[in-house]
Amino acid sequence: MSNTNSVINIAIDGPAGSGKSTLAKRLAKEQGYIYVDTGAMYRAMALYLIRQEIDPGDAEKIERACQDVDITIDYVNNEQVVLLNGENVNGLIRTEEVSKMASVSSANGRVREKLVALQKELAKKRSVVMDGRDIGTVVLPNAQVKIYMDASPRVRAKRRYDELSARGEACDLETIEQEIIERDHRDMTRENSPLKQAEDAVYLNTSELSVEEVLVRMKEIINDRLGNGPDTTYGEKL
Ligand code: C5P
Repeated sequence: MSNTNSVINIAIDGPAGSGKSTLAKRLAKEQGYIYVDTGAMYRAMALYLIRQEIDPGDAEKIERACQDVDITIDYVNNEQVVLLNGENVNGLIRTEEVSKMASVSSANGRVREKLVALQKELAKKRSVVMDGRDIGTVVLPNAQVKIYMDASPRVRAKRRYDELSARGEACDLETIEQEIIERDHRDMTRENSPLKQAEDAVYLNTSELSVEEVLVRMKEIINDRLGNGPDTTYGEKL
C-alpha cells in the first residue's frame, strides 16, 4: 500500500456565490481536513498586480511578477491565511476591485501555472477540501470526491446582496447579478482552465437548499464516493 492512500482529496468547483467556500470550510472542519481556498491565492496575486499598477494584459510584466512574487498559505486557529511576500493579506482581498482584477488576471497561463503547482503540493501530503474553478478538472484530477456546486445567478446575487447589506454596505441587486453573470462568462469561456464540471463530478444545485441541507447532501456524496455507502441518517440520531 502506498502512503498516499491515506490522503483524501475533496475537490469542489462552481461559480461565485454557489456556496463553495461556506460548505468547503464546514466540511473540512467536520472531516478534520485542511481547507484550501484557491480563490484567495488568485486574489492575493491580483492585489500584487494592483499595487504594482501592472496591466493584466501585459504578458512581460506578469511573467516578471510571477518570478518576484511569493504567495504561500498558512493556518492560524484553523483559518487559512494568505501570505503575499510574507504579508498577511486576508483583510485586503475581498474588495470589488480585487474580485474584478482576480477574474481577469486568473486567465493568464503563467499565473495559473504558478498557483496550481502550489495547490497540487498542498494536497499531496494532507487530506484537503479544496475549492475553486478548476480543482476537479486540472488541480486534483484524481480527487476521490468531486462536487460541482451551482445556483441560479439570481440566488447567488441575492446571497451576495444579503452579505453586503449585513455589513452595512450600499448595493443594488440588479447590478450585483449583472456582475456575477459577467464574471461567470469570463471564468467559463477563458482558454486556460475554464470553469466547468469535471466528468466524474457530482452536480449539486444549491438554489433551493439551506446550508444545513447542502451539508447533508455533500456528506452523502462523500460517503458514497469513499465507499462507505450512502449516509441514510438525516438529522441527529436520538
Ligand atoms: O472564488 P473567488 O471568488 O475568491 O475567486 C476569485 C477569482 O479567482 C474568480 O473569479 C476566478 O476568476 C479565479 N479563480 C480561478 N481558479 C480558481 C479559483 C479562483 O480562476 N481555482
